[in-house]
This record gives sequence, structure tokens and C-alpha cells, in this order.
Amino acid sequence: MKKMTKALSALFMLPLAASAMEFSAKLPENQLQYMKSDLDLLQNTNLVVRDAEEFGKVFGLENANTPMIQKWLEERVKYIVAEEFDYKKDTVELSGRLIAPNYVFPQMDPVKPKPADDKEEEQAAKKGITVMANMGAFVYLLNKFSFGSGAKALVFENESGEESLIPIDSPRIGLVQVGEGHFMERLQINKENLDASANGYQRLATLFHEGRHSDGNGKGLSFLHGNCPLGHYFEGVPACDKNLNGPYTVGAIILKTFVDSCEDCSDVEKEKMRLRFLDSYGRVVSTYEAFNEKNSQKIRMLEVRRQLLKTQIDSMKKRSPNPVLDNPMRVDAHSVFLKQYETQLTDLDAEIAELEKPVEFQSQDWDAEPEIGMIRESEPAQNEPEAETLEYD
Ligand SMILES: [Zn+2]
Repeated sequence: MKKMTKALSALFMLPLAASAMEFSAKLPENQLQYMKSDLDLLQNTNLVVRDAEEFGKVFGLENANTPMIQKWLEERVKYIVAEEFDYKKDTVELSGRLIAPNYVFPQMDPVKPKPADDKEEEQAAKKGITVMANMGAFVYLLNKFSFGSGAKALVFENESGEESLIPIDSPRIGLVQVGEGHFMERLQINKENLDASANGYQRLATLFHEGRHSDGNGKGLSFLHGNCPLGHYFEGVPACDKNLNGPYTVGAIILKTFVDSCEDCSDVEKEKMRLRFLDSYGRVVSTYEAFNEKNSQKIRMLEVRRQLLKTQIDSMKKRSPNPVLDNPMRVDAHSVFLKQYETQLTDLDAEIAELEKPVEFQSQDWDAEPEIGMIRESEPAQNEPEAETLEYD
């Protein structure tokens, strides 16, 4: 991290961000040209939307036309940075503090250890190639949950060499990093003609996918991916959406629309684009299993009872009576009570295990409204929430 603490007031001296997408000075020239021509392609596309209702619902747009969809993208993807971008190096500290609108953890699946019987090459394939990453949303998430640390900003140098600071105050910062896969030849739709519109549409669909990661709040912050379910090709890998309007749905719908709108795509290209949007749809999970949060309180209550019971049993076992010296009547009572307590413990264990079992949920639309935090110039607040008081539902 650069050690150049800047006063927040200095931000007002910096040039205002342009409304259109800005590109980093560090992007290789050919990548820059491709991305600019992709945006021109979008601008010149006469959008053919077959299912306007579905389109409108997912994008939150009343009219599905090119200017609206361009605006949708520009609000969510504002800065494109190169593969070498390193958020740790390109972050500066501001003198204020980030105040988030909530401190609710986003829905995240646990990272599972890779199964040992998975072949190495299969593991590598499943790890996937990063095509693009919404780093703006990621650094917001990091900053939001690093309590006690100051507000931060990302340093961005555009292609004209002008530097600006982007305060990290929302998943909507819109800073997207190009990954190794975005321009990888073997991942293009048309490998023979790299300038084909089909390739441009495929890359645009990725931008739209990343755009959705700039949305969401609280539990749905940044529309984080969940683990793919049992039996899925990406089983256990966080490459699926457990909602109906996440990045994979957005990417699929826009690519489907591009297939219908493309005027110079060949049948082969269209077929390949269809396979891509089917793959994207295939990562939208309609039902999924998860722990039922509603049971947490009851489980906590039962755990207390269980602990008491265990203590009771342990102490009874320690002072187990001597059958010879003790009154035989007492020996009976002791073992009867001990047996009773042990049965109760077994029943309690079973009851807790039942409540902890995952239940099936239907995927829903998540609230796409982005959370907007603020950077406040103030002394550290006394009543900042502690980790223990974080809400989970
Ligand atoms: Zn994603």
C-alpha cells in the first residue's frame, strides 16, 4: 500500500470521473483497442429482445434498448484496469473512516477442501481461468469488514496519464480488472477471425456479468457466487448463483440477446454463443440446500441444556457409589438417574443434529439496490459495531 495519506478534502480537487468507461494507462494497446471496439459494437447494436419481461425484470429496465443497456453498464463498470493491477499497491489511505449502511455479512459458502480423489488436471480445470474480476466490489467488501482501519481509495491512472483517486465507499466503484482469459485466443468464439463481432459480444457479456457484481446490499452484497451443487460439473466450486438475477443470469440473458441482435454472426458463431449462454444459465441454481438460519436460536438454547446435562452426568460418574459400602437402594437410584440423563443427552444430540440438517431453499431474486457507504472525517466512533453483533439474517 502506498504510504501517501491524503486528506479527503483533496478529493474535491481531483478531476471528476467521466461518465463513460475509463481505461488504465497500463492496458496493452491491443487490449485497449479491442475493448473500445467492443463498446462501439454495443453502441451500434440494434437490440432485439425476445423476452422483454424477463429482460426488464433482470436488468431493472422498463425499456430494453441500446442506450438504456449502455447506461446500465456504464453505471456499474467505470474503470478497466490491467491484469497486473494489484489492489494492495494501488490503495492509499484517506484520513476519514468508511461508514457502511449496514454490517451484514454477505451470503458466502464455506470454501471446501478439494476432494483428494480428484485428478490434478481436473482440479486445475475446475479452478478455471479468470476472465475478469470486479475488484472495486472486492475491495469495498474488504474495507467494509476491516473494522477500525481508515477509509481508503484506489489510485487510477487513465490512458492520458491523469491520476485520480476512487474512494472505496460502495460496490458501485465499478473497477474491473482484465483477467488472463478475456483475450485468450482459445476462449474466443471465433479463433480464426479474432476481429469477429461474435468475439466482441462474448467479451461484452463478460462485462455485463461483472457489472452485476457492482450491485446488491447486505446479504446480497456484490451478488457473490455460491458453491455449485452436488452432481454439477463445478460441484463444490463457487461458480454458481443461488439467486435468479445474479451475474450468470445477466450474462446469459445479454448474450442470448446478442445472438438475436447480431447481424454479421455466422450460424456456427451463433451456435457457439448459444453454448456459452447455456453454460451461464446452467450455473443458476433453482434450489439449493443450506442451513436453516431460523433454527439458530433454538440450537443455541438446546446447546446450553446439553452442556448442563453433560456436566451433571460427568459429576455423577465421578462420584459413582461403592455398591458394597453404600446403601443398595441409593445405588439403584444413582444408576437409574444416570441412565435417564444419558438417554436425555442422546435425545438432545439427535434433536440438535436434526435442526442442523440443511434444508432446501428455492432461489429468489436478490435486491439489486447497491449499498452506498460514506467516508466521514471524524474521530473513531465509540459505538462502532463489534464482530459479535453482526447480523446474520
Ligand atoms: Zn462472477
